[in-house]
Amino acid sequence: MAKPAAKIKPKNTECNYIDGQWVTPLSGEYLENYNPADARESLGRFPASGAEDVNRAVAAAKEAFKTWRKVPAPRRAEILFKAGEILLRRKDEFAESMTREMGKVLKETSGDVQEAIDMTYFIAGEGRRLHGFTTKAELPNKYAMCVREPIGVCGLITPWNFPMAIPSWKILPALICGNTVVIKPAEDTPHSTYNFVEALIEAGVPAGVVNIVSGYGETAGAALTNHPDVRLISFTGSTDTGRIVATSAAQNEKICSLEMGGKNVVMIMEDADLELAVEGVLWGAFGTSGQRCTAASRVVVHKKVAKKFTAMLVEGAGKLRLGNGLSNKTDVGPVINAEAMSKILGYIEIGKNEDKAKLMCGGNRATKGDLKYGYFIEPTVFAGVKPYMRIAQEEIFGPVVSVIECNNYDDAIEIANGVKYGLSASIYTRDTNRAFKAMEDVQTGIFYVNASTIGAEVHLPFGGTKSTGNGHREGGTQVLDIFSEWKSIYVDYSGKLQRAQIDNQ
Ligand code: NAD
Repeated sequence: MAKPAAKIKPKNTECNYIDGQWVTPLSGEYLENYNPADARESLGRFPASGAEDVNRAVAAAKEAFKTWRKVPAPRRAEILFKAGEILLRRKDEFAESMTREMGKVLKETSGDVQEAIDMTYFIAGEGRRLHGFTTKAELPNKYAMCVREPIGVCGLITPWNFPMAIPSWKILPALICGNTVVIKPAEDTPHSTYNFVEALIEAGVPAGVVNIVSGYGETAGAALTNHPDVRLISFTGSTDTGRIVATSAAQNEKICSLEMGGKNVVMIMEDADLELAVEGVLWGAFGTSGQRCTAASRVVVHKKVAKKFTAMLVEGAGKLRLGNGLSNKTDVGPVINAEAMSKILGYIEIGKNEDKAKLMCGGNRATKGDLKYGYFIEPTVFAGVKPYMRIAQEEIFGPVVSVIECNNYDDAIEIANGVKYGLSASIYTRDTNRAFKAMEDVQTGIFYVNASTIGAEVHLPFGGTKSTGNGHREGGTQVLDIFSEWKSIYVDYSGKLQRAQIDNQ
């Protein structure tokens, strides 16, 4: 009799990680992941999970919460610290895999992994702090104090552009506070989140504490935001999706933290070091092919130096080499997928047809040689842009920058603040008084002086104002305020009913 065929074990990446096990999706469906630098290369398939998979993960996280919340925070921190060591050991491997799945150059993907490492060390340190406070009570022989409590099951939804750093900004503070998590990574970049979760598993995170459910936003993501046992949603992505997520979270009273889009600005004053400013704008606008939430997509330049600056910028943009991010000759990689490419090219068309905007360089899909297999767009500069134009108002999320002339400092500030977003801004000037004034005048969550709009560090709060966020901050110790709730405790040691006590709430 013929032997039954051996069952082929599915790869971890074809599974969800739920309750400490790699399990195939109950939906039975998968999504295929491709290399945006060469779309002929498939990177394998990942679960396209449905609500039943999310339910399973939430149930595991809910059960694990009962014990994880009681593990002393310094012990939880030891696991996170160990994950940092594992990430450090596997940094090059993870960076390479990230470049394959989302295209940015190795230097940048190494930076992405490094940010996750920095975050593990930073948050592990918080395990020995998680400070509360004490204060004076109104009555004698009464003690008043306030402590941080975990919230419960946290649903985390992340974008593709920082596929390890952003999951780390959410998972690590959630865990240190004693929560358990279910993460749904972006459909274009699940692998980097799997790599991060693998490091946590190897470091000893107990079953059910971290669960990963791969899938599409409208199915797996929506199931998470609608699940009654998920007490908190932490979302990073576009403002349009954030609105949907927040609406759904509000329907069953979840805590909801949103980090959304940006339309960031570099202001260049007449006294600026122009070489420095050009260098900053080049990397701010074209690094990660302009697909950073903090990308410099508007440059407001004083009219006295606008012509010179624009010429220098166009010259610099022309020297950037497009290519596969794995090559050390590449400066700018592809954009994430075909849909993003056509959206960006659509904005370039809008720019060309808008009221006197002038296309100075770029403007096309790049198809020379092997580039034709990927989603490459030439670094694009528009000059003569007016602040009201769509290319100066809407988030393009691609390698496109608009140069807008201003008459003076006040004009620059008005233009800078004249968009619905408020993530990052910068000023180039040699006048320190003006730099300090700008710090106050600009309505963004992040501000740089004589540097571009990018380069945040994990121990400072990260997030934006207006339509970029809903008032929360990731990074810094401020992130603990998202993932913990305050409990006020009164201890009356008078041994009697104090009259004033019953007059209060
Ligand atoms: P996106 O909004 O398309 O998707 C983000 C995530 O939401 C993905 O995981 C997606 O699957 C999920 N999603 C989609 N529809 C959903 C739904 N109905 N319910 C639940 N989840 C759903 O964003 P993207 O294209 O992945 O990322 C780019 C955007 O993210 C840009 O706007 C960028 O500015 C923003 N971003 C912001 C920050 C920040 O910190 N402010 C950081 C990085 C990226």
